[in-house]
Amino acid sequence: MVDHAHPGPKLNLGTRKTVAGRTLHGGQCPPYILMNSNITTLKTVYVISLGCPKNLVDTEIMLGGLIRAGWEVTGEPAAADLLLVNTCGFIEPACKEAVETILDLARLKADRPEVRLVAAGCLVQRYGAELAKDLPEVDLFIGVNDFPALPDLLDRPPADGASRLFHQAPPYAYGGVEARYPATPAHLAYLKIAEGCSHRCTFCLIPKLRGSLRSRPLKTLVREAENLAAAGVKELILVAQDTTAYGRDQHGHPGIAALLREVAAMDGFRWIRLLYGHPARITPELLAIMAANPRILPYLDIPVQHGHDEVLRRMGRGYGRGDILDTVRRIRESLPGATLRTTVMAGFPGETEAHFQALADLITEVGFDHLGIFLYSPEAGTPAASFRPKVPRREARRRAHRLKAIQAKIVKARLKSLVGAVAEVLVEGVSPESDYLLTGRMKSQAPDIDGQVYITAGTGRIGEIQPVRLTRALPYDLLGEIL
Ligand code: SF4
Repeated sequence: MVDHAHPGPKLNLGTRKTVAGRTLHGGQCPPYILMNSNITTLKTVYVISLGCPKNLVDTEIMLGGLIRAGWEVTGEPAAADLLLVNTCGFIEPACKEAVETILDLARLKADRPEVRLVAAGCLVQRYGAELAKDLPEVDLFIGVNDFPALPDLLDRPPADGASRLFHQAPPYAYGGVEARYPATPAHLAYLKIAEGCSHRCTFCLIPKLRGSLRSRPLKTLVREAENLAAAGVKELILVAQDTTAYGRDQHGHPGIAALLREVAAMDGFRWIRLLYGHPARITPELLAIMAANPRILPYLDIPVQHGHDEVLRRMGRGYGRGDILDTVRRIRESLPGATLRTTVMAGFPGETEAHFQALADLITEVGFDHLGIFLYSPEAGTPAASFRPKVPRREARRRAHRLKAIQAKIVKARLKSLVGAVAEVLVEGVSPESDYLLTGRMKSQAPDIDGQVYITAGTGRIGEIQPVRLTRALPYDLLGEIL
C-alpha cells in the first residue's frame, strides 16, 4: 500500500549519522552484515536514499553488496569515489526531486571525472531510456530488479558504446541472505516482507514498476528478524506495498498474522509495528494477534484514499465507505485506543464537491490520529490518467487545504488531551534544532511520518524506552520530561 502523501524522508546518510548519533562507517556492523576481511583497499561511496522505507531497504542491500566488495560508506560527498542515489519515481513530484538530486551530485563530479555517479531505483525503472539519453553525467542507471548486481557492474570495465542502463532483470525480491548495511539508527530496522503488489488501483504505477506480489518465505523472514533482534534492534517495522497481503501468493497462505505471531515470540524487540495495510484486509485474526501481544503496537496504517463510494469505485480500491467505517469500528472494539493513520487523495478525476464533502465528513467522523493528504497526480501508464473530468489543480489544492484544517483541529485536541499523562518514549537522539533537546517517539508515532516528542529534561540513552511526562502540545509534536 503506497502512502501517497508521504514519498518519505530524503535520507542523506551523511546527515543521518549525526542526527541519529550513530556512526555508519565500517567497524560497527551488526552480525547480519558479512564483511570480506581479505579486502585491503577501500573505495568510498556516498549515498542518498529517496522515497519510502521500502526503498531504504533496497539501499541497505545495495550498500551491503558494496561493502562486501570492498567499499566503505562515507558522509563526505566531495571525497567519495562513488556517488549513489536510490530514487523514488512513482509520482511526478518524486521524479522531479530525484532528477534534481542526480543533477546536484553530477555537479560534484564535474571537477573529478574519475568519480562515478550511479542512479538506481524506481525513477530508472520508469524512465531509464530517457534518462540515459538526457543525463550523460551518470555512469550507470540501475532499475529496481538489477540493483543487486551493482558491485559487479562497477567492477566491469565499461566497453565503448555499451549501454549504461540496466533495468530488465526478472522480478527481484530480497531473500534475506544478501548482506544488508543498516541505514537506520541501531535501535530501529525495517523488515521488508514482500515485494510488488497485486492490487490494480487505477491511479497507481507501483505494480508496473515493482511487479505483482512476491511474499518472502516465512522462514527467511524469521531468520532475518532473529538476526535483527540479536543485533539489538528494539523497534521492528514490517513493510511492503501491502503488508496485509503477505503470504497470499504462497503455498498454504501463511498470512500476516502467522508472521506476526512468530516475530512477537522472539526475545529482543520491544515494539513491533506494521505499516501499509489495506483497509479491506484487517481481519479478525490480525486484530486478535495484535490484541494478544502487547509488543505488537496497536497502530494501524490503513490508506483509505477517499470517503465516497463512487470515487473509491473509480479508484479500483475494492471497498466502499461503509467498509472503511466497519473496519475502524472493528479495530476500535478489538484494540481500544489504537492509533489510526491514513492517507487520502484530493482532486481525483470526477471528484465533485459532494464527493469531496463525503471525504471531509469521513475524516471528521473517524478522527484519524495521523493523516497524509495528497494531491492526485495523473501518472502516464495508469488508467486514471485518462479519466475525465479533471479537477483543476487550484481546486484540488483548495480541497487539500480544507482537509488539512480539519485534521489540524483533530490533532490539536488529541495532543492537548495527552498533556499531563506519562507515556513510554523511545529515545532517538539529540534534536537537530537544539543540543539541549532530545527527541523520541511514543508508540503512536512511526518514524519520519508522524510527530515526535521533544524531551526537555532528564537523561536518556539512544534506543532506551523511558517514561516521559508530557508537558506541552505543539501543532503536531509534544514536549515532555523524562521521569
Ligand atoms: S496498486 Fe493500490 S494497493 Fe497496490 S501499491 Fe498501488 S495504491 Fe497500494
